Amino acid sequence: MKFNTKVIHGGQIKEKAYGAVMPPIYQTSTYAQASPGEHKGYEYSRTQNPTRHALERSIASLENAKYGLAFSSGLSAIDAIMKLFKSGDEIISTNDLYGGSYRLFNKIYKKFGLKFIFTDLRDLSNVESLISDKTKLIWVETPTNPMINVIDIKGLSDICKSNNILLGVDNTFSTPYLQKPIDLGADIVMHSATKFLAGHSDVILGLLAVSNDELAEKLYFMQNSSGAICGPMDSFLTLRGIKTLHVRMDRHCENAYKIAEFLDGHPSVDKLYWPGLKQHRNHDVATRQMKNFGGMISFTVKNGNFEKVKKITSNFKVFTLAESLGGVESLVNHPATMTHASIPKEERDKIGIVDSLIRLSVGIEDVKDLIDDLDQAIG
Ligand SMILES: *Cc1c(COP(=O)(O)O)cnc(C)c1O
Repeated sequence: MKFNTKVIHGGQIKEKAYGAVMPPIYQTSTYAQASPGEHKGYEYSRTQNPTRHALERSIASLENAKYGLAFSSGLSAIDAIMKLFKSGDEIISTNDLYGGSYRLFNKIYKKFGLKFIFTDLRDLSNVESLISDKTKLIWVETPTNPMINVIDIKGLSDICKSNNILLGVDNTFSTPYLQKPIDLGADIVMHSATKFLAGHSDVILGLLAVSNDELAEKLYFMQNSSGAICGPMDSFLTLRGIKTLHVRMDRHCENAYKIAEFLDGHPSVDKLYWPGLKQHRNHDVATRQMKNFGGMISFTVKNGNFEKVKKITSNFKVFTLAESLGGVESLVNHPATMTHASIPKEERDKIGIVDSLIRLSVGIEDVKDLIDDLDQAIG
């Protein structure tokens, strides 16, 4: 089955009772048993729920993985992964990471004895020097949030394999339409399905996809034991969003391309970050591992002190000033005070999340309206 068919049919089974075309929302906590232990595969909805299963089969199908797991949020999906490790284990990650992931690692799991090494993984030449016999996982996002750095998944997976380390990829920014980490050698793919997968800014949900049997079993154990599962309604909404993923992504990418062209060379713009631009540091890697370059663009404003940027980000009429990304509507975000405020300022400045940085989640509106809005806002 081709990807554009999989988004609609991948992993789905025909509903037998009434022929419903969409999977029913099984809003139930428990299931009748004929005699003790005799049931139809479902006992209790923390453990299994048919609507959630439909979503879990869908993400497995899209990521070319064997198994899918759904959680109450992207962060609870990452949380389930962290619980695979024990005190003393080491994890290497990027220094340009979603603020919430950084907070989970540094403020919670560090306390339980996990050691995190944050480094620039755009260049893989120094990774091996950071690996010790305690290293258990390399965790990356690509493109990263909010600096839109691109990391070579295949290159990293070769290093992980030769050192017997797991590779986990947060595929939120790319979605399986643009990039398939399992095909490139990753062990775990994670999504904040809140973003492009659900796509309509109406649900918080996290997903994992894995192919290794043993790893899947451990993660299902964590999902059931900790219980951070998503409800049937949210599973349904995410599945509905996924059915138009390919169409939406094409438009996100097309609009982002035109907006990047507009911003490139604009007198008010200083640095511009979008992997589709030839001058982007990892344009070649992006071209190799992604089908297209995505809908996320960041840029800095020339002489953009905090007051100036505050004014600009409040000026938008079509873009909405808000956290989050990946919905049909365009959003503008100021990472330093919004999504990435939980990262200390010295750390932020070091990696480029300066006060003058603005992040755009380019939606699927008419691109002329978006460009006009940007033009009047940045002046
Ligand atoms: C939003 C986001 C997360 C966290 O997901 P939630 O669904 O908000 O818990 C993780 N990684 C990335 C890249 C994100 O954008």
